[in-house]
Amino acid sequence: RPAVPVRPSETRSTCPYCGVGCGVIIESADGQVTGVRGDPAHPANFGRLCTKGSTLHLTASPAIARQARLLTPMLRDERGMAPRAIGWDAALDQAADRLHRIAREHGPDAIGFYVSGQLLTEDYYVFNKLAKGLLGTNNIDTNSRLCMSSAVAGYKLTLGADAPPACYEDIDQADCLFIAGSNAAWAHPILYRRIEQARQARPHMKLIVADPRRTETAEGADLHLPLLPGSDVMLFHGLLHIMLWEGWTDAAWIAAHTEGFEALKAVVRECTPERVAQACGLRKEDLFTAARWFATAQATLSLYCQGLNQSSSGTAKNAALINLHLATGQIGRPGAGPLSLTGQPNAMGGREVGGLANLLSAHRDLANPAHRAEVAALWGLPSVPATPGKTAVEMFQAAADGEIRALWIACTNPAQSMPDQATVRRALARAEFVVVQEAFATTATCEAADLLLPATTWGEKNGTVTNSERRISRVRPAVPAPGEARDDWRIVVDLGRRLESRMGRTPDRSLFPYDTPEAVWNEHRESTRGRDLDITGLSYALLEQAPQQWPYPPGAAQGRARLYEDGVFPTASGRARFAAVQPQPLAEPRNSRFPFSLTTGRLRDQWHGMSRTGTLGRLFGQVAEPCIEMHPWDMERQGIAAGELVQVTSKRGSIVLPAQPSPAQPAAQAFIAMHWGSEFLTGVSAGGEVLAGVNALTTSAFCPDSRQPELKHAAVRIEKAALP
Ligand code: SF4
Repeated sequence: RPAVPVRPSETRSTCPYCGVGCGVIIESADGQVTGVRGDPAHPANFGRLCTKGSTLHLTASPAIARQARLLTPMLRDERGMAPRAIGWDAALDQAADRLHRIAREHGPDAIGFYVSGQLLTEDYYVFNKLAKGLLGTNNIDTNSRLCMSSAVAGYKLTLGADAPPACYEDIDQADCLFIAGSNAAWAHPILYRRIEQARQARPHMKLIVADPRRTETAEGADLHLPLLPGSDVMLFHGLLHIMLWEGWTDAAWIAAHTEGFEALKAVVRECTPERVAQACGLRKEDLFTAARWFATAQATLSLYCQGLNQSSSGTAKNAALINLHLATGQIGRPGAGPLSLTGQPNAMGGREVGGLANLLSAHRDLANPAHRAEVAALWGLPSVPATPGKTAVEMFQAAADGEIRALWIACTNPAQSMPDQATVRRALARAEFVVVQEAFATTATCEAADLLLPATTWGEKNGTVTNSERRISRVRPAVPAPGEARDDWRIVVDLGRRLESRMGRTPDRSLFPYDTPEAVWNEHRESTRGRDLDITGLSYALLEQAPQQWPYPPGAAQGRARLYEDGVFPTASGRARFAAVQPQPLAEPRNSRFPFSLTTGRLRDQWHGMSRTGTLGRLFGQVAEPCIEMHPWDMERQGIAAGELVQVTSKRGSIVLPAQPSPAQPAAQAFIAMHWGSEFLTGVSAGGEVLAGVNALTTSAFCPDSRQPELKHAAVRIEKAALP
C-alpha cells in the first residue's frame, strides 16, 4: 500500500505492547501526545488497533507522567530509605565506580544485566556490547527468556536457524490454521481479527485450537483440543502417528529436504491414538480430524505462543510441532509453515543482536569459537568471553546466593514477573548494588533499587523494533522526554564511556562511538553481513519509507516474506532436521496435597505488570480485579461461592483472592492472570516474605535446552480463606 502522508503534527511509530507490531500515527501538539490512530500503511495492522493500542495516547498524558514516571535520577543512600534526586553526572559516576570496583574485586561475572523485550534494537545492541565486549561478562539476559527462548531453541534444533519461516500474509492464504498454546484473541488481538477476516473470505478454512482452556480463541475454533496441561508433545506425536498410518505424510518432500525421520518414527510408533487420547484427555476421533485437516489441507499454518514456550519441555514442544510441518511438507509455501508469536514488541530484535546469555550478535552462538572470534573482530577486541552467561532464572538465583553482586535491570519488573518471587526478592535484597533503568516509578523492582535512572518510553523513543514476522519498523519520537529522562541506548553509552575511562581505554578507542540510534543500528546492520538475517541492503532511509522484513541483503528490492521456499535449510546438510524428542512430564505434577493445575496468562486489556495500562480506568472495564477462575463443579464440590475469597497455595507461597466460576476452565485446573501486582494482589512466601501477584506461586523449573521457566503450570491447592 502507498504510504499515507502524515501532517507535521503527526508522527509514524509502532505500538509498544505486543509482538504483532502494529503501526501507529501519534498526534501531538505543544509537546504533548494528543491522540493515536492505527497506521493504514503498516502491513501488520492496516490501520487497526486493539483496546490497548488505541488508548496509548491516554497513557502519555502529563498527569500520568507526573504520577507514574521517573523524572530524575534518584539515589537511595540506605536500603529502606526514600531515594533522593541526584544529577545524571553524579548518578553515572557512582554507577561506573561501583561496577568497576565490583568487577575488579570479584571479576566481571559478579555483574548481571537483566534487560527487556520492550527495549529497542539499538538499546539492546549497546547493552550487549557493554556486558560482553567492555566488561567481559556474558551475564546479560532478558525477560524475553520468559517469552521466546523455547521458540528460538525449537527453530534452531529443527530448521537450523532462529528464523520464523512464515508471515502474517500466510494467514490470508492458509486452508488450515493450527493454533497451539495461544489465546490470540486476547494476546494478539489484531492478528486474531485478521484470522477472523480470512475465515470469512475463505469459508473452507479450518481452525484447530489446542489449549487446555476454552479461551475466546478456542471458542471460535472448528475444533478445540482441550489437552491436559503439559501433554503437547504427546499430542503432536500422536497426530504424526495418525498421519503416517493414514498415508498423509509427504514422503517425496521428506526424502528431498529432511533428515532424521526414521529416528522420529521410532518414537511416534509408540504414540498410538488410544495412548495419546488417554495421555492428553482427548477424544480419539478429534485426533483423527485434526491430523487430517492439518496434513491434507492445501496449506497449513501453525501459530503458537506461551502455552508451548513457557514449559520445562518448551523446546521439545516447539520441535514436535515443527516436525508435523516437515512431515507434511507444510512449509516454505504461501499459507504454510510454523509461525511463533512473540509476546513482546521487540523480543525478535533482542534475538537479532544476541541480547541473551547464550547468543552473540546476528544470531551467532556464544558456544561457537568461530562466532566469538567474528564478534571480537567486529568490535575490535582480542576476544569475547567464552564462559556461558547466566540466564534469567539462574541470574537471580546467583544473586540470591551472593555470586552476582551487582544487578542492572532495564525496562522490566522482575520483582513481579519472574517465577518463584521469593528467590527474586532475596536476590534483590542480597545484591550490594541494584540499578533500575525505567520509565515508570511504580514497579515493585523500583522499590529495591539503590539507583534509579529515568528512561524514555513510547512517544519519546527513537529506533527500531522487529515483530513476530521478522518485520523491522521504526519507532519515532513525537514529543520531548519529561523531566530528565534519557533514551536507554544513551544511558548505556554514557555509562560505557565512563567505565572505559576507569578501565584505561582512551576515547579514541571507545566501543561506544555513537551519537545517534542510527549509528548504533548501522553497526548492528554490519554485524549481519552474510548471516541468515542479513540486512546489509537496508537502511534507516529505507525504513523511513516502509517497514521491512529480514533478510534484506544488498540489492534486494524488499525483505523476504517467506523463508525456505527452495527447500534448503541453514543446516550443515542443507536439510531440515526432525527432532526425535520424548514426551516429558510436568516439572510439578498435581498430587493429593496440591490437587489443582494452576496456569497463568494474559487479559485482553492489560499489559504485563500494568505499569502503563494500569494507569487507565477504562482498561479495567473487562476485568476489574484479580480472581482465580475455577470450574463450577470444583467450586461447588468445595462449597465455594462465586466471589468468595480462597487461599491458593503452592510449595513456594500462597495468595488470597476471590474465586470465580468459569466454564472455560477444565475441572481440576485454575487460571490467574499474570498482570496483577502488589497494588492488587499480595502474597506470602513459604518463609513469610510479602510478595506480589501470581508469581508468588509459580515454579522456576525451566527447560534444559531453552532455559525458559514453566510459568504455565504449578501444582496448587485451593481452600476457602480463613478470615479473621
Ligand atoms: Fe498494540 Fe498488539 Fe494491540 Fe497491535 S495487537 S495495537 S501491537 S497491543
